[in-house]
Amino acid sequence: MGKKVLVIGSGPSGIFTCGALSSDKSIDVKVYERASQIGGQWAGLRTDLVEDYGHRHSSLYRGLWINGPKEAGIELPNYQFEKDIPSYFKQPQMVKYLEGYVDHMNIRQKFHVSMNVIKTEFNDTTNQFHVKTENTATKEIHDEIFDYVAVATGHFSMAHDPHFKGEESFKGKYIHAHDFIDGKLYKGQRVLCIGGSYSAEDIALQCWKFGAEYAHITHRSQKQLAYPDWPKEVLERPILTNIEGNTVTFKDGTTGEYDVIIKCTGYLHSFPFLPKELNLKCRNVMVPSGLYNQCVSLQNSQLFFIGMQDQYYTFTMFQLQGFYMREVVLNKIQVPDFSGRLAEYEADRAEGAALKDCYDDIHFQTRYVNKLAKLTGEQNVDASEVFVRWENQKHKSICGFRNEQFRSIYTGHLAPPVPTKWTEDMS
Ligand code: NAP
Repeated sequence: MGKKVLVIGSGPSGIFTCGALSSDKSIDVKVYERASQIGGQWAGLRTDLVEDYGHRHSSLYRGLWINGPKEAGIELPNYQFEKDIPSYFKQPQMVKYLEGYVDHMNIRQKFHVSMNVIKTEFNDTTNQFHVKTENTATKEIHDEIFDYVAVATGHFSMAHDPHFKGEESFKGKYIHAHDFIDGKLYKGQRVLCIGGSYSAEDIALQCWKFGAEYAHITHRSQKQLAYPDWPKEVLERPILTNIEGNTVTFKDGTTGEYDVIIKCTGYLHSFPFLPKELNLKCRNVMVPSGLYNQCVSLQNSQLFFIGMQDQYYTFTMFQLQGFYMREVVLNKIQVPDFSGRLAEYEADRAEGAALKDCYDDIHFQTRYVNKLAKLTGEQNVDASEVFVRWENQKHKSICGFRNEQFRSIYTGHLAPPVPTKWTEDMS
């Protein structure tokens, strides 16, 4: 009898893991999704909807464009975008791609929505997982047994919400990026984004584009983002040290007045359905803690975590991790014992600690996906040249990088230009 595998979550990491595992017909795959539809972050534009399980998963906001081209680690070798899709686009095209993949792979019947996994335990005698699930619509509880589990619940939905001195006294709107739903709401407002990464730059610009009086960014990074085409209303400031009323003081002693503060301070890895001994304590870094080959639990070689690293490669890496899992389930690849896993994890961690900049990160993650492709005999997805071009273009123009066109790394097809430039797209 084939092995029973549970994939938890139906965002991109769950969808592509399911597709990869299902490429071997002997594996019995089931995907549980607690929301009422598949797609994870990308499902619908449910930006302000709290789901039946009491949490709004998606951190998407209206008007969001992807911040890297589809040719960079998104488009799969075995399922490609329609030829008329530009390199950069918005949520509907992504949903279409995800849904198209599910149909193309004929795996829709494997997905079960409104199924919230509430407990996962491992039985050392039977070497199987005991999984408890609640149907969020009927409130029925189900108990099932699986041989392998893939955790594919993402790590950009549980807000990392640090406290900033004096925040209780702030008189304006004070939110986390997870609760930012529409830049149009901040027209005429004075906005401050806290954080020095993708959300801070994108949300500040989104507010600027839709008419904020100004949108400042305060961060603790040593290096400025320093985009040469920052609009004059977008200013980088040193990290804040205090908030009092509407006045924010920064590390250099300067102050600013704000109506809105948005904490773009990232997200937490959160797996409430896992017991303490199997849980993963991890941050958004290139080498996730506690994982062998960046995807197998150090504690249990039948437990996989998909896409837990800080990501350059996304869909292509998720599918390759799924192919790798398939080979392990089929016993074609043997995962080493605990000490072997630990030794390799420590080596990965040392390599991760030596990475100096985004270019090192890109080449490191490229080596990882190349390794997965080689181990599994699947097609290479090396997009390092695309990533380097993308980084260079973005550093040159934060407002213009999305106007660029890239060639498919598989077919050489050049994506068409965007129909409307990002700066002019007010929808
Ligand atoms: P992130 O990349 O993990 O960055 C979190 C930021 O918060 C870092 O700059 C971090 O600074 C800062 N931070 C955390 N705690 C802090 C504290 N106590 N005080 C000051 N700063 C603090 O998270 P993100 O920017 O939300 O991005 C998450 C993911 O969403 C990324 O994969 C990104 O590509 C994606 N995203 C995509 C789009 C898009 O497609 N348009 C838009 C937004 C986000 P340190 O580095 O110093 O810790």
